[in-house]
Amino acid sequence: MQLNENIMKLEQNYLFAEIAMRVRRFREEHPEAEVLSLGINDVTRPLAPAVSDAMSQAAQEMRDAAHFHGYGDVQGERFLREAVCGYYRSFKVAVEPEDVFISDGAKSDLANLCDLFAPESTVLLPNPVYPVFYDTSVMAGRNIIFACGTKENGFLPLPENCGHADLIYLCSPNNPTGAVYTRQQLREWVAFAHKHHACIIYDAAYEAYIRNAALPRSIFEIAGAETCAIEINSFSKMAGFTGVRCSWVIVPRALTAHGQSLHKLWMRRQSTKYNGTSYIVQRGAAAVFSPEGQRQVRNDVQYYMENADLIRNALRRSGVFTTGGEHAPYVWMECPYQMQSWDCFELLLKHHGIVSSPGVGFGAHGEGWLRFSSFGSRETIERAAHKLSALDWDQLALWKVTAVPAQHFPAL
Ligand code: PLP
Repeated sequence: MQLNENIMKLEQNYLFAEIAMRVRRFREEHPEAEVLSLGINDVTRPLAPAVSDAMSQAAQEMRDAAHFHGYGDVQGERFLREAVCGYYRSFKVAVEPEDVFISDGAKSDLANLCDLFAPESTVLLPNPVYPVFYDTSVMAGRNIIFACGTKENGFLPLPENCGHADLIYLCSPNNPTGAVYTRQQLREWVAFAHKHHACIIYDAAYEAYIRNAALPRSIFEIAGAETCAIEINSFSKMAGFTGVRCSWVIVPRALTAHGQSLHKLWMRRQSTKYNGTSYIVQRGAAAVFSPEGQRQVRNDVQYYMENADLIRNALRRSGVFTTGGEHAPYVWMECPYQMQSWDCFELLLKHHGIVSSPGVGFGAHGEGWLRFSSFGSRETIERAAHKLSALDWDQLALWKVTAVPAQHFPAL
């Protein structure tokens, strides 16, 4: 057999699997230690009652032959596509149900969209960013170039110095940095995409965390985006669907390349490779957009954002530089003393039982930074914030320099 050699070009472990493995090893070596997880991007709040009720009701309906649902519309049930459009209308963006595709998660959507583009496409990726953009591009054998986020540009790279690209991935609010593009900045990206006849894949998975009405929540707020962009969003972080699984993709019918409609191609691809999202899940997802559902899920978003405030304030009190955490559930911290991400990760884990995510796992430009997730329970975040605010970075850095053997680390 011939294998896809591109998969072998990936790091041995996916970032979050590597973090989980290191934490597991630490727990085995220190079973007495308290471990506070601010590393993984999974949510902890339970499902909103409106969502869980809607799914129970849908399950009950299915007991009755008259209301049973088999295979559904591959594009997603009309009621959910209309509810998605209603949501966009609430922030004054016009989207039509015909352009909305419901599926089972943004991660699979990001990977599956690769099917639309030629293997030799050049992909422009922000760096640092959610590792799935890079990994799926590598697996597809793409030529990859980067738009680099730095402290100086606020981790919001612009196309000014970028070479030609066929595909452009953007993530706003950004995972891991929490940075959010302004409308003017998105206009620059849309102009760049038009100039290069490129397609923007806009990942808006954290849109619900934007607290400033002046910031754009969709690429379709920008004139001309409907002819150069595809948008992905997910119920995972907006409504705790990480285990339920539901997302949407907007592929405007106006989006064409070489005389072909990308909407038609995506429909064709989905019809062959996807059999529709669970009816019960789609009922739950539609309930997210009901007035009651919105009130409940917004409370949870607010809860996570208060966590983010606690983390950010604690880190700043300890004297380090942070950014993000204002319109995103992630706080992005510069490692002091020019420490490398994994070194800083290990020190925080070994000395304080705090799990973070090494910035370098999100791209080379994340080296020297750590990401803290605010998705933990309030109790976990408060305990972590207490420890973080009292951190003695001088001492930690010294421990690193003198490379104290593991068994000599002070008790936790
Ligand atoms: N996009 C970004 C930027 C994410 O951070 C994540 C998950 O963490 C996803 C997509 C995947 O979301 P889903 O749970 O819908 O697959």
